[in-house]
Amino acid sequence: MKKSIFEYMEEYGHEQLVFCRDKKAGLKAIIAIHDTTLGPAVGGTRVWAYDSEEDALVDALRLSQGMTYKYAAAGINLGGGKTTVIIESPEQKGEGLFRALGRFINNLNGRYITGEDVGTTVGDLEYINMETDLVLGLPVESGGSGGPSPYTAIGVIEGMKACCKEVYGDESLKGKRVAVQGVGNVGYDVVNHLVENGADVVIADIDENKVKRAVGELKVRAVGVDQIYSVDCDIFSPCALGAIINDKTIPKLKCKIIAGSANNQLEEARHGEVLGEKGILYAPDFIINAGGTIADTDQLEGGFCPERAKKKVARVYDNVVKVLEISKRECIPTYKAADRLAEERIRKMGELKRLRVKMPKKIARASV
Ligand code: NAD
Repeated sequence: MKKSIFEYMEEYGHEQLVFCRDKKAGLKAIIAIHDTTLGPAVGGTRVWAYDSEEDALVDALRLSQGMTYKYAAAGINLGGGKTTVIIESPEQKGEGLFRALGRFINNLNGRYITGEDVGTTVGDLEYINMETDLVLGLPVESGGSGGPSPYTAIGVIEGMKACCKEVYGDESLKGKRVAVQGVGNVGYDVVNHLVENGADVVIADIDENKVKRAVGELKVRAVGVDQIYSVDCDIFSPCALGAIINDKTIPKLKCKIIAGSANNQLEEARHGEVLGEKGILYAPDFIINAGGTIADTDQLEGGFCPERAKKKVARVYDNVVKVLEISKRECIPTYKAADRLAEERIRKMGELKRLRVKMPKKIARASV
């Protein structure tokens, strides 16, 4: 190990790490609870054939920290968590492993709530749910949202509108040319909403079938996967991969706004500064792609309600506006302003806890 466990916790700012082992079920898992200032820690379960235990630990630390920022900036009263499960082969996954994990999660008495991530399916969540109610993202028939993508797409559209308001003084997407990279689960719905809003959409995808479907059903134009960066457009919307804003792609961009669902769009933080210098408005990924995460948490209100979830997701617009305000006020790039928004909220709400007073026994009895 490069550092001790507590040095790692110090570095990422963690409250608690739980190491779980069940030999018979073949379970080796790390539950990372980053920060519960705003509420219970929430984040999915990632199952992966990690090269080392340290890699699994660092992944859990890094991803749970990211969830704290995502919820805080989205205005949700939850903290960040994540589970990483170490496997050697996919055959290890199954009812025994996930139910064993469910028991460990249940024993945390609500400090941590899990969900889907890389390497887990809705079916796996249902196994976890056999042992604990502390699961988000279940199918509709089990009381969940039924999948985040449609809500992520709604959030991306709201974020685009907020960016247009900033750049053009008008939030309308009508007549705006938008280049969408990737028409998978989120990208297809983004394109659909854009077309409904009267935008002029150009797409690209490495999967020919997905291109054919989007072109056929939504009547949009397609360009090659390398050409999508240089489309002369108002908005470039990355909805495929991470790290696509880099030294090679930035010189090609002819857009005014970058607003899409992909995670970790900036290859390096410095690329966020370069975009600012080029006069391109970058909507930070974890702010604009939070729609699905926001919708999933609606289940915690006593059952998932699609209409209420959509209303909450629409607040992505306000969250983007807040980021832009911080960016202008403090003269910092938008990706830094997004972190600032999250940190400010955690700090302010943490201070509120100071105001909670314990009622003296006499008064408590009198008020019954
Ligand atoms: P997906 O796998 O359904 O879609 C991704 C699409 O991108 C696929 O159609 C794929 O063929 C295409 N693609 C891959 N490489 C490409 C390339 N080089 N050029 C063009 N197209 C390429 O995934 P998704 O669920 O739609 O998610 C898209 C992105 O948004 C991912 O980065 C994901 O992490 C992020 N995200 C998704 C959600 C969600 O609710 N699904 C939420 C937050 C963030």
